[in-house]
Amino acid sequence: MSTRAYAAPSATSPLGPLTISRREPLPTDVEIEILYCGVCHSDLHYVRNEWGMTTYPLVPGHEILGRVTRVGSEVRKFKVGDTAAVGCLVDSCRTCSSCASGLEQFCVQGPIFSYGSPDKHSGGTTHGGYSERIVCDEAFTLSVPGNLDPASAAPLLCAGITTYSPLRKWGAGKGKKVGIVGLGGLGHMGVKFAHALGAHTVLFTTSHGKVADGKRLGADEVVMSRDAEAMAKHAGSFDMILDTVSADHDLNAYLALLKLDGSMVLVGAPPAPQPVSVFSLLMPRRNLAGSLIGGIAETQEMLDFCGKHDIVCDIELIRMEQINEAYERMLKSDVKYRFVIDIASLKG
Ligand code: NAP
Ligand code: ZN
Ligand code: ZN
Repeated sequence: MSTRAYAAPSATSPLGPLTISRREPLPTDVEIEILYCGVCHSDLHYVRNEWGMTTYPLVPGHEILGRVTRVGSEVRKFKVGDTAAVGCLVDSCRTCSSCASGLEQFCVQGPIFSYGSPDKHSGGTTHGGYSERIVCDEAFTLSVPGNLDPASAAPLLCAGITTYSPLRKWGAGKGKKVGIVGLGGLGHMGVKFAHALGAHTVLFTTSHGKVADGKRLGADEVVMSRDAEAMAKHAGSFDMILDTVSADHDLNAYLALLKLDGSMVLVGAPPAPQPVSVFSLLMPRRNLAGSLIGGIAETQEMLDFCGKHDIVCDIELIRMEQINEAYERMLKSDVKYRFVIDIASLKG
């Protein structure tokens, strides 16, 4: 099926219109008319080939929400008219030990991401949500609670699960002091989730203008991370720090704030290596870890949690043709707090 999309033709050219082809739904496939697609900083890293693995043309977008327009003959979970969503994953081997334990993002055969992965159906690469429709196996399609505003729920598919998963795994909750570094798309969801899980939540930001928002979003305290004195007041006191920063920054400044056996978990993915002083980990004993999105079952759990607690993202709705300008604003940390593309604008 001929499908209107927006694509990056190369690492250095702006995104523009491109017509792509989507497969006809197979028996276990769901066809979704995309209504909204969130704009993740990973889209920008990928478009500009900052991680060195991009093939072009690239249709980004992995915070995809829309309406089911067709289902294959064996589809059981979805019917035409349902609100459905697709996140960062569209397939995996489904049999390896990771897949068997619901960690499809760590599939040993290689997870199939929504964009830029080998597409076994087309023989090319997968195309993401900056497009008018997507066809996805129902096993990788998510249900969205009806009480959530669809545009504001779209970014839950990446920013939501990427913060929810590590906060749950590392036990953010009552009696725990949890730091969130960076108030962007991921960070603002980290603050909301840490607060909803009952943790004492501290936001670290470089932006003076985000202090009031940090508190409104659920932070008990906001620390200006470039103020060494303000940072020192928290030395050795955190159970967990979740780092969402997309660019070079000093990890050691945060490691020093962890208590004995505390954990710093990196989800932000700056392209360059970030130096770590080993002594920050030795004394006292501390953990440094990473986390990547979340599996399909946990993504559904997160969406249901959001439905129950009325949690969505704070968004700024944009038209498709504003995407290049939105990337520039994202680079200036000027997003409150996630851009979401109104896909209707792609159709004119
Ligand atoms: P974003 O909306 O641009 O937010 C990033 C935030 O980091 C900014 O708002 C800013 O917060 C802070 N920041 C930016 N540059 C900084 C610098 N030089 N020094 C200190 N702080 C800085 O990006 P996002 O969409 O949340 O994504 C964040 C990162 O996570 C990206 O690298 C993305 O690729 C990665 N990511 C990883 C996963 C995963 O599974 N691990 C999933 C999605 C995204 P303040 O203004 O508050 O300082
Ligand atoms: Zn993302
Ligand atoms: Zn697998």
